[in-house]
Amino acid sequence: MLTPTDLPVPSPKPNEALVEIKATGVNFIDVYFREGRYPTQLPFVNGQEAAGVVVETGSEVTNVQRGDRVAYTSALGSYARYAAVPADRLVKIPDELDFEQAAAAMLQGMTAHYLLYSTYPLKKGETALIHAAAGGVGLLLVQMAKRIGARVIGTAGTQEKAQLARDAGADECIVYTEADFETETQRLTGGKGVEVVYDGVGKATFAKDLNVLRPRGYLVLFGGASGAVPPFDLIQLSQKGSLFITRPTLVHYTATREELEWRANDVLQMIARGELKLRIHKTYPLADAAAAHRDLEGRKTTGKLLLIP
Ligand code: NDP
Repeated sequence: MLTPTDLPVPSPKPNEALVEIKATGVNFIDVYFREGRYPTQLPFVNGQEAAGVVVETGSEVTNVQRGDRVAYTSALGSYARYAAVPADRLVKIPDELDFEQAAAAMLQGMTAHYLLYSTYPLKKGETALIHAAAGGVGLLLVQMAKRIGARVIGTAGTQEKAQLARDAGADECIVYTEADFETETQRLTGGKGVEVVYDGVGKATFAKDLNVLRPRGYLVLFGGASGAVPPFDLIQLSQKGSLFITRPTLVHYTATREELEWRANDVLQMIARGELKLRIHKTYPLADAAAAHRDLEGRKTTGKLLLIP
């Protein structure tokens, strides 16, 4: 349950900065935390992503100062007006971007970036299957994969969502609630299958993912919007073509300051230059966070959801 409540403004520790939040990003991981799928101590302040202004710094902080416009991800507690955040997680927002764009870009943008450039480095001419291609991460994955020069086959729950994915650059988009995505992917690839599947849907798509990969293909399973994938017999990887599976998470791909800056700057600059378009589905007042969760879980959204304190 998500309940609005009054808490004292946090005091930053020596390595933290106090950020006055102007926009908070809603992400599927917030649903997992609310459900208890990712356990944490209760009660807790949900949210992993925000943009705002530094209003106070701890004694050891040197990389930001009062008045800086900053954005961050991977620090719990952003469904709030103020958050004390480890300063080494903060990046400065380029002048061209407003707070809403910065809050929308960080988590999903850096996720698309690491999945495509690091987890399975997608190459020009390869074919990628991207599930939930009209979602927050999905629309960014589609655009970045097309910039790399890959062929993109998306999936989406409705015809309208499929059109959005095509508008973002997908070469084709399968409405997987109406057509069987395994059959369609095989048809679209002349029976060869794809080099890589980027799958944040999980339980509902996992088994068929293994049937649409080429020999030695990669299943990049980065989430479970439809539920967690049940235990799995590894012998299937051998039987279906010496396949690879990985279950990556953003925090391990932004673990060092250098890697965080590389990804954040790449993403924010692509947006500033107009090469990557953000789709803000809706902004909700912070007090309506529960409605944002209902919409996200109900598959009613496309692109990014934001909370405004
Ligand atoms: P999305 O905007 O993509 O929303 C989830 C989408 O999943 C829905 O819109 C829906 O699209 C699809 N979906 C399919 N089946 C279901 C179902 N049963 N219930 C709900 N949704 C379903 O969310 P995000 O962009 O925030 O996240 C996408 C995925 O990426 C999530 O699994 C998330 O956990 C994961 N993620 C992982 C990260 C990592 O580092 N590992 C980082 C960021 C996100 P449709 O109707 O078109 O099927």
